[in-house]
Amino acid sequence: MIRTRFAPSPNGPLHLGHAYAAIVAHDLARAGGGAFLLRIEDIDGVRSRPELADAFRADLRWLGLDWDEDITQSHRLVAYAAAGDRLRAMGLLYPCRCTRAEIAAAATAMGPDGPVYPGTCRRNPPDSATEDIAWRLDMARAMALAGPLTWDDARAGMQMARPDLFGDVVILRKEAPASYHLAATLDDAADGIALVTRGMDLFAATHIHRLLQALLDLPVPRWHHHPLLVEEDGRKLAKRRGSPSLADRRRAGEDGLALAEALRGHDFPAGISLSESVSSVS
Ligand code: GLU
Repeated sequence: MIRTRFAPSPNGPLHLGHAYAAIVAHDLARAGGGAFLLRIEDIDGVRSRPELADAFRADLRWLGLDWDEDITQSHRLVAYAAAGDRLRAMGLLYPCRCTRAEIAAAATAMGPDGPVYPGTCRRNPPDSATEDIAWRLDMARAMALAGPLTWDDARAGMQMARPDLFGDVVILRKEAPASYHLAATLDDAADGIALVTRGMDLFAATHIHRLLQALLDLPVPRWHHHPLLVEEDGRKLAKRRGSPSLADRRRAGEDGLALAEALRGHDFPAGISLSESVSSVS
């Protein structure tokens, strides 16, 4: 049975793009008689505003969406730490205390997420007992252990996994219990998600998730990366640029069911369209 999820981070209000993402995941599950899960990805201690989660639920109900399970990531910290311990015991993680600025200054290559880590702390590891340590994956070792990997996207077809594009990614963050990559991968497995639906902005992240699945003996789902709602200049919709949030629309008395139908029919407000990629200018 197909199980999908919508996994918003409560870092800011939901927008039309989130509504579209939730509808895609919901409808794919329901079309196959499957389950649709809501997962609140609230482990970013700095940016997360847990009080937004209830507004998210109200937004989804207003759109006419219902879900079978309601999961909160911060309830799962023990599982993330255990997976970190396991990767560390396999000799695949090393401590890193570099700052963003240091990495930007020393990096010589760009990856899908920004500068590729130049390996400073891999060559010269800091004392892992000190504070402010992140743990990075030794990508070359991890890939050698896992061997070549593929993954299947329902729209884009079979992909060769290219986690090397990212270099030594952070797995356990300094200021949060796990990286997005580790938490999402473990949760999708724990939640039995058979079809991971999310936007094209996370397409490349799947290369890392596929590698983590191989390293941690997790089941391999299929993916469905959908196009994103963008404004005329190709940028993702965001409130700071004036597009009203779902909560604003709901509180203003707009008809959520009609909005959901319009999004399903790709009948978007003026100036908004679907795009396979998002401009990095923000
Ligand atoms: N929490 C992520 C976000 O809001 C989505 C993660 C995912 O769908 O894998 O961008």
